[in-house]
Amino acid sequence: MNAVWIDNAISPEALPGDAPVLKEPKIEREAQKLEKRLCHQVGKAIMEFNMIEEGDRVMVCVSGGKDSFAMLDILLKLQSRAPIKFELIAVNLDQKQPGFPDHILPAYLKNLGVPFHIETQDTYSIVKKVISEGKTMCSLCSRLRRGILYRVADELKITKIALGHHRDDMLQTFFLNMFFGGKLKGMPPKLVSDNGGHIVIRPLANVAEKDLIRWAEHRQFPIIPCSLCGSQENLQRKQIGHMLRDWEKQYPGRTETMFTALQNVVPSHLMDTTRHNFKDIKTTGLPDADGDKGFDEEEFPVATLPGLQVISFPS
Ligand code: SF4
Repeated sequence: MNAVWIDNAISPEALPGDAPVLKEPKIEREAQKLEKRLCHQVGKAIMEFNMIEEGDRVMVCVSGGKDSFAMLDILLKLQSRAPIKFELIAVNLDQKQPGFPDHILPAYLKNLGVPFHIETQDTYSIVKKVISEGKTMCSLCSRLRRGILYRVADELKITKIALGHHRDDMLQTFFLNMFFGGKLKGMPPKLVSDNGGHIVIRPLANVAEKDLIRWAEHRQFPIIPCSLCGSQENLQRKQIGHMLRDWEKQYPGRTETMFTALQNVVPSHLMDTTRHNFKDIKTTGLPDADGDKGFDEEEFPVATLPGLQVISFPS
């Protein structure tokens, strides 16, 4: 894997299914800038976490939502100019939710010219039968979906499964785990699936949701609503989403700072004895310029850290 992933990611290129060229030059320029940024951020994640390798068969999970449409779109752009050869296979699971428009995705994917597979499994009826009215169905529904997608991945000889979670999903998960699960645990950009048989990747790990919303509007993706199952939304996730958006409004740049923090973990300054051997700490006798000043308060270069606000108190 090399820097060509990123360098090559910045020349916008038309693909089948591209939206008609916008007439307004300013809007067009903005769209080009957004495309460059998205390609750069996805290319960077692929490179940093070695998400895609030579000869990979990547299953791109497409639900019909803005995130998965954008993921497929950007991966196709990168594929055409990547320094390595790999295949993309779009996969959609039709769970037979009432009113699911099953013609939209096949038509869109055919037009795009990408190999695709639609798996039809009526998990909706199973979930409805098992879960009593008013209870949230998501946990059983996603467990069934996961099992089916693993099986399809085996059948299609897939080497990587790509999911469309983005930066904001990852931050929300981090806070959900902290607030409701008592754990410092996020959503990894790359992992081994729970059945041990697959590598799952999240190429949108560095991408902000607001950029995906703008990209979906620009590209006019035929978005399928995600509320067809009638399940209640995850209220805790919703609450965390509100909190993060409020923080960002009050302290612009805070989201970016928090996301950077996920990539700068200092186990010796947390309290997990399995991550750091506190018991056997010994003096070294050597001064260390980067060492810990145990008695001083931490100082931050305010000007260079987004998301921090200087508050001055009257003396
Ligand atoms: S929102 Fe509906 S489709 Fe999505 S996981 Fe929950 S029950 Fe399943």
